[in-house]
Amino acid sequence: AKRNSNEPEFMQAVQEVAETVIPFIEENKKYQGKMLLERMVEPERVIMFRVAWIDDAGNTQVNRGFRIQMNSAIGPYKGGIRFHPSVNLSILKFLAFEQVFKNSLTTLPMGGGKGGSDFDPKGKSDVEIMRFCQAFMTELSKHIGADTDVPAGDIGVGGREVGYMFGQYKRLRNEFTGVLTGKGITFGGSLIRPEATGYGDVYFAQNMLATKGESFSGKTVVVSGSGNVAQYAIEKVIQLGGKVVTASDSSGYIYDEAGIDAEKLAYIMEIKNVNYGRIGDYITKYPNAKFVAGKRPWEVKCDIALPCATQNELNGEEAKILVANGCICVAEGANMPSTPEAVEVFQHAKILFAPGKASNAGGVATSGLEMSQNSLRLSWSREEVDEKLKGIMSNIHEACVKYGKNSDGYVDYVKGANIAGFVKVADAMLSQGVV
Ligand code: NDP
Repeated sequence: AKRNSNEPEFMQAVQEVAETVIPFIEENKKYQGKMLLERMVEPERVIMFRVAWIDDAGNTQVNRGFRIQMNSAIGPYKGGIRFHPSVNLSILKFLAFEQVFKNSLTTLPMGGGKGGSDFDPKGKSDVEIMRFCQAFMTELSKHIGADTDVPAGDIGVGGREVGYMFGQYKRLRNEFTGVLTGKGITFGGSLIRPEATGYGDVYFAQNMLATKGESFSGKTVVVSGSGNVAQYAIEKVIQLGGKVVTASDSSGYIYDEAGIDAEKLAYIMEIKNVNYGRIGDYITKYPNAKFVAGKRPWEVKCDIALPCATQNELNGEEAKILVANGCICVAEGANMPSTPEAVEVFQHAKILFAPGKASNAGGVATSGLEMSQNSLRLSWSREEVDEKLKGIMSNIHEACVKYGKNSDGYVDYVKGANIAGFVKVADAMLSQGVV
């Protein structure tokens, strides 16, 4: 702990895993005395590098780039790239650590990694984004490869950025390989990959609700965020007959009592994906909705909550409000959006609660399917990929129930996900010896 005491997000993620995995190790001799968790918290490799680029005014800018290669016991490092001014070692190590367990849960052969930069894409021109992505990849290309480390998107990195990075990798290495996932459909991308994290989150929640004889039909749903994950979570909830009443970004949230329908969602996508604008613009087109500046949507009464923006965006107080308002299910689309206090509140109230490493694993699972398609040099149909995604989410749910069901019947999905994820990585590490 001392070694990482200046890395609060990383410590938070490790603490949560340790609380559930240490008792499991204590009950299972095979995993004792091998320093498995101690080895897992130490990244196999951390790469930090200068990213210098020239802005539209001709000025030189300098950012910091990172790649955390956390664990390769079960496959090549795999995990997204985040561009956000808050990016630092602590945040990327927490994300890389979570990724190891998540990737293990998907049952696909992927190790864990994460990367990014403190570059702020907000307000940058398209050409500036391209120059930055090229500068970033110029260094990163030395450390990744289709069989070594396969990055993808995350906050601030979508199809556009992946395209620019892929182009630069190909230019530098003179090879067309599946080195990144989330690629455009014309150059090796997989159908359903853009939708996968949001859809997968909702599929996971469907599995949880089914254990109580419930479904999305007729339910009021509160979603945070309005980026990639939030957009497709909203889309799937609409398709399943639920009513989504909120979306948000770092400026605040919109509340639409009538529900966000497919047409309104298309407008959110235009605001965010075409104009790179603010969620408050929603009310210029839909004035019956209201915009609540500077706040998060958890005060809105709902049956189901899907936090899809960022880490630590739902605290203990907000969790109490959700429970008091009758919320029965929280499925994290983002990584670690609920603080430890919030998780405690949900579990104490015995409502359905899924941690991101289980419920948002559909994104990386579909990235795994993109890697398979690239290796086979063929592409599967939407239906094929969607079916595989549904199957994977349902298997992850089953694994969580297997390892997470308490004696009173309550399923602790946090414990279930951590232990199920741990077992496969630990077994592989034991087989490969101490390195
Ligand atoms: P996007 O960049 O597409 O969207 C992020 C959204 O979260 C935006 O609405 C953004 O608002 C909001 N947000 C970001 N930072 C903050 C902040 N500090 N405070 C409040 N709001 C914030 O990213 P994604 O949708 O891809 O990622 C969202 C979450 O899902 C992240 O936790 C990510 O790690 C996780 N995730 C993503 C996967 C993927 O496939 N994309 C896979 C698995 C997990 P604004 O526009 O104002 O910045």
